[in-house]
Amino acid sequence: MIRSMSQNIRVRFAPSPTGPLHIGGVRTALYNFLFAQKHGGTCILRIEDTDQARYVPGAESYIIDALEWLGLIPDESVRNPGAYGPYRQSERTGIYSDHVMQLIRGGHAYYAFDTPEELDNMRAREMNRGIHSPKYDQHVRKSMKNSLTLDPAKVKQLLDNDTPFVVRMKVPEDRTISFSDVIRGEVRFHTSELDDKVILKADGFPTYHLANVVDDRLMRISHVIRGEEWLSSTAHHVLLYEGFGWLEAIPVFAHLPLILKPTGKGKLSKRDGAKFGFPVFPLDWYDKKEKTTYDGFREKGFLPEALLNFIALLGWNPGTDQEIFNRDELAEAFSLENINKSGAQFDFDKAKWFNQQYILQMNPKALGDFVKDDIENAYEIQIDPNKLLTIIELLQPRVEFVDEIVAKANIFFRKPEELDVKVLSKKYKSENYGHFLQIVDDLHNLSSWTTDAITASIKGLISSKTLKFGDILPPLRIWLTGEASGPDLFTIIQVLGREESIARLREGLLMTKNSKQDA
Ligand code: GLU
Repeated sequence: MIRSMSQNIRVRFAPSPTGPLHIGGVRTALYNFLFAQKHGGTCILRIEDTDQARYVPGAESYIIDALEWLGLIPDESVRNPGAYGPYRQSERTGIYSDHVMQLIRGGHAYYAFDTPEELDNMRAREMNRGIHSPKYDQHVRKSMKNSLTLDPAKVKQLLDNDTPFVVRMKVPEDRTISFSDVIRGEVRFHTSELDDKVILKADGFPTYHLANVVDDRLMRISHVIRGEEWLSSTAHHVLLYEGFGWLEAIPVFAHLPLILKPTGKGKLSKRDGAKFGFPVFPLDWYDKKEKTTYDGFREKGFLPEALLNFIALLGWNPGTDQEIFNRDELAEAFSLENINKSGAQFDFDKAKWFNQQYILQMNPKALGDFVKDDIENAYEIQIDPNKLLTIIELLQPRVEFVDEIVAKANIFFRKPEELDVKVLSKKYKSENYGHFLQIVDDLHNLSSWTTDAITASIKGLISSKTLKFGDILPPLRIWLTGEASGPDLFTIIQVLGREESIARLREGLLMTKNSKQDA
């Protein structure tokens, strides 16, 4: 739903730095970026930090770092300001107070001087009347202490005396407010359902509603793409646009469906990560209050492109069976109209599948560069580039996470601590002892140490003595790696090198032979 092709597409991702970016926030950001990219528009990052009570130090840089890791680089932001700054709302307070005054002068907002005690009394009164969740609304305001009920001289006096006040929106009586949402169609609210929201707090800071609307207008936002939890605030936002005389320029709204728990019941929360054993944040986050670290997708070994691909499909469907999309393909295929209305169930197995697909697609050399330091640190070695490449080629098809490569590479740098004796006792036959010795001997004398030569030597012996592969290869593998399955055995021998292979084989063979004799 693009209003006119000549209009500039400008979207924003507007997180509040009240904690780390949740996976739902990442999806909101991604959809904004994809939409901007598709239409040659601009995507800005605005930090909505006007709620001082909920401000969490470190959250802002976490959000920016997470977006950066994911390759979602805003065209305008606090780190890269454009022409519509500042991009942090706490630096725009002057702008908001001017706009609040404009609403007051136009009769769309009013001062309210009610004390906390008076507000409590009001709530008690309303509850007595059978109202379950009392609101400061068009009825209640008539009996409260505000600039609509007090005479102007009194209001002036209260203001001159620095009496604490808030400013509230004056919601008009008996009207239906409607707006269209690309995902949900026509949405309507009756003004009797709407409270007179505070727009300027006693501390002088605006609330989310005011700051959000003012900034969307001043930053020339054309489309507001955000989570479903904001749908019910939108009627208030429409009233603010009306109050400012900006209805002509009201953005197109698109409210995204929730991301649901794996069970499909209820919204995915930060605690679900620990409960179900998967991350819900892009990067690790240490919660100072709770003294707990929440796992990040990055630290779990996810590739950012794989995570984005997975997240893109949580709530949006391309209308085809295609699942693997790179960033440009996503932008090309993306449309707000193809976003589902209903919640999207989070499926961690699917996330892992995406990661595996992206690992498989990676150029082995690039994957090697990616894990080289980790392998060298883990095994305290310097690794030869050819050897690294061979190891990567062996392990790449066998992992879901990049760091599994580091763990699985241990067979090349550590003697097996334990042998799979269960399989070994089944597969090792004493009558083959001499053949095993012969295999070791042949390896010892092999003139060229290549995978082909090693393969030919071992396979040659098996067929010349009419032995069974299943009797010979499994014990060899277990002596070399400890395990009964794994990547190509002959390549493992080649990578281990002659000396190490022979040592492991001899040691394993001897141990197995002795334990058979003891038994
Ligand atoms: N600051 C709001 C949030 O944290 C932004 C909502 C919106 O995009 O309007 O989600």
